[in-house]
Amino acid sequence: MYDVALIGTGAAGVSAALTLKALNKNFIWFGSRSLSSKISSAEKIRNYPGLPFISGGEMREVFLRQVDEMDIEITPKNVTGLYQMDGHYGILCNKEMFEAKTVILCTGVESVKPIPGELEFVGRGVSYCATCDGFLYKNKTIAVECTSKELEHEIEYLASLAAKVWLMPMYKDVEISLENVEIIKEKPLEIRGGQKAEKLVFSDREIEVDGVFMLKQAITPSVLLNGLDTADGHIVVDRSCASNLKGCYAAGDCTGRPYQYAKAVGEGNIAAHSAAEYLANGK
Ligand SMILES: Cc1cc2nc3c(=O)[nH]c(=O)nc-3n(C[C@H](O)[C@H](O)[C@H](O)COP(=O)(O)OP(=O)(O)OC[C@H]3O[C@@H](n4cnc5c(N)ncnc54)[C@H](O)[C@@H]3O)c2cc1C
Repeated sequence: MYDVALIGTGAAGVSAALTLKALNKNFIWFGSRSLSSKISSAEKIRNYPGLPFISGGEMREVFLRQVDEMDIEITPKNVTGLYQMDGHYGILCNKEMFEAKTVILCTGVESVKPIPGELEFVGRGVSYCATCDGFLYKNKTIAVECTSKELEHEIEYLASLAAKVWLMPMYKDVEISLENVEIIKEKPLEIRGGQKAEKLVFSDREIEVDGVFMLKQAITPSVLLNGLDTADGHIVVDRSCASNLKGCYAAGDCTGRPYQYAKAVGEGNIAAHSAAEYLANGK
């Protein structure tokens, strides 16, 4: 079992990883070597101390070099579920389970807000994980909203199971071209149903579906981890970056504004120290 499971490779995650390494903790870090689209996409960063006027791309390179030189490994997996177990946490990456005594959430904020009905029908026809729930929709009709090209392999997987896929891509340069996939270039307004999700509402029509997949890079924190206290979509933490759940810490944009690298880096450092202290106290 790991001491810490660190989730997210943005500025907060990088800072927490460097601190955990310095503190000699046994941790697993989930994310990707591209780090974060929010790090890379900034044109010119003017307010980050020590690295004046660099671009987001340059910042990513500097962060990655530091991570590599500290011999820190990134596990290239997306976390699809977190579970409180007997005094520790289970971390699900599609069908693979990992265990850690503490978790640090550095998952950023998803700019796409949940649509009406989305959170209400989670587990009742709405899913965030293709490989976890795709098999439930063999030969059925599903709708898939996808926010990132990097998740296209999940759409292909769903299309290999379902009879029909209505795809709403929220990104440019869609490369999916499959017989049973039909693209709708519009964001759905609402998910409606009774006991379970049954239809998707658009401005000019409704489509009937057996299930809806919302493929996003960052899952709403309270959906990712049941019981996590949130306010306005942000994880509620105290000054030690502790959430309401024992052994669970959060840092960066996911804890609230200002959305800035400096704040994310500072909180990542605090969260790592707090997790280490929690472990040292044997809690
Ligand atoms: C265009 C642009 C320009 C900006 N310019 C500036 C600037 O000049 N100065 C400034 O201070 N700030 C700027 N910002 C804000 C800054 O980018 C953010 O505040 C900062 O990136 C926050 O870091 P973070 O680690 O909290 O989150 P993020 O950088 O968003 O990183 C979160 C990471 O977690 C990953 N993740 C989420 N969920 C999971 C999961 N379940 N499993 C695995 N990984 C997951 C995401 O994919 C992402 O890689 C800018 C933002 C943008 C978009």
